[in-house]
Amino acid sequence: MTVQETLAQLVAIDSVSSRSNVEIVDYLAERCTAAGFGIKRFPYADDNDVRKVNLIALKGTDFSDSLRVELALVGHTDTVPYDVRWAEALKLTEDDGKLYGRGACDTKAFIAAALTAAEIIAEDKLRKPLALIFTADEEIGLIGAKRLAEAGIIHPRFAIVGEPTSLRPMRAGKGYCLAEILIKGREAHSAYPALGTSAVFGGARLVNELERIAEQLKGHVHPAFDPSYTTLNVGLIRGGTAKNVIAGECRLTLEWRPIPGQEPGRVLELLSAAIEKEKQRNPEFVCEVDAARADEGFETALDSQLVTLLEELSGNSAGTVAFGTEAAQMTQLGAEAVVMGSGDIRVAHRTGEYVPIDQLQRLVEILTEATRRLCVE
Ligand SMILES: [Zn+2]
Repeated sequence: MTVQETLAQLVAIDSVSSRSNVEIVDYLAERCTAAGFGIKRFPYADDNDVRKVNLIALKGTDFSDSLRVELALVGHTDTVPYDVRWAEALKLTEDDGKLYGRGACDTKAFIAAALTAAEIIAEDKLRKPLALIFTADEEIGLIGAKRLAEAGIIHPRFAIVGEPTSLRPMRAGKGYCLAEILIKGREAHSAYPALGTSAVFGGARLVNELERIAEQLKGHVHPAFDPSYTTLNVGLIRGGTAKNVIAGECRLTLEWRPIPGQEPGRVLELLSAAIEKEKQRNPEFVCEVDAARADEGFETALDSQLVTLLEELSGNSAGTVAFGTEAAQMTQLGAEAVVMGSGDIRVAHRTGEYVPIDQLQRLVEILTEATRRLCVE
C-alpha cells in the first residue's frame, strides 16, 4: 500500500478527540501486526467516560517492565473537530500536489509515513529495537502521552514526534501553562461604595501586576526561541453583574508559555507574591488561583545524534517550536526528542488543512533512513 493510500484510510476514520479512538487504533494495530510488530494497548476512560487507547508497537524486543528502545516514532491519533460544512473532511482529496482532509496535515501524514517506513524496515534485521507510539487526546492537552509518561511504560533513547514542521527538525519547545484566577469582592449598591468591595477594581490591580510580571519575564532569555522569553497573556476577563452593582466577582484566565529550563511554577510564584502585595495594601482583597495546567517545555542538545542525523537527512537546520508537543513527555521518559513532520503548522487545525505530496514522500524516506541508521546499521 502506498503512503498516500494509507493516509486516505487514516483520514477516513473520524478520530476527533471527543470520540473514542478505538477504531483508528484497531486499524493501526492490524497494520503493525502484519508488519511483524508486537503490539500492546494501554486503554483508559477519558473525563466523559469515553474509551481511549494508547498503542505501542515494538520490533526487536518484547514488552517488559523496563522497556527500552533505541528509537520511537510518535504520532497522535486524534484530530481537532471539523466544520460540518467541510463535506470532504474525511475523504482525502488531491489537488495541485496537495492532499486535503481533516488530520491530513496534523498529524495523520506523519502516522502514514511512520507506518510505511516501519513496513519497509520490517524486511531488515534490526540490531536495536524500534517502537511506534500512537497516542490519544493530544489535541486536548497531551493527555495520552502524559499517561504513558506517568506510568513510565517505555524508555526510548531517541524519539521523533510527528507534528507539521515542514520537515524541519525542531529540537526544543516551550511549555504551556494555564491558571484561572478568581477575585472575590462584596456586592453593594454602587451609590454606597463603602458598603461593598469591588472585585473588578481588585482584578484590575492584579492585571497591572501581571503586566509587570510579563515585563520581568523578558529578563530570562533562551536565544533559540522567538520570542526568546516566557510569554504571558491574560486572555479573558469577566466580572460584575450590572452597571449599578459593585462587582462581587472577577475572573481572569492567565496563560503562559515557559521557555525550557524555566520551572512552569515560576510564574505562579510571581503571581503569589503579587497577590500578597495586594493583600497588604487592602486586607479585604480575596483571590483564589486554580493552576489548571503546567506543561514543561523540552530541549534536546544541538549536538544530539538525532538532531544532527535529521538535519542531514532533511537538509534543514534545527529549529524550535512555540506550541506544545508530546516531545516533553518523551523527554520525561528519558528520550532525546525531536519534533518533525510534513505539512505546515499554519494550515493545521483549519478547514482545508493539507499536506504537500512531495513532503509526505520525503518524510517516508527520512524516517526509513533514520531508522536504518539508528536501529539497523
Ligand atoms: Zn498535532
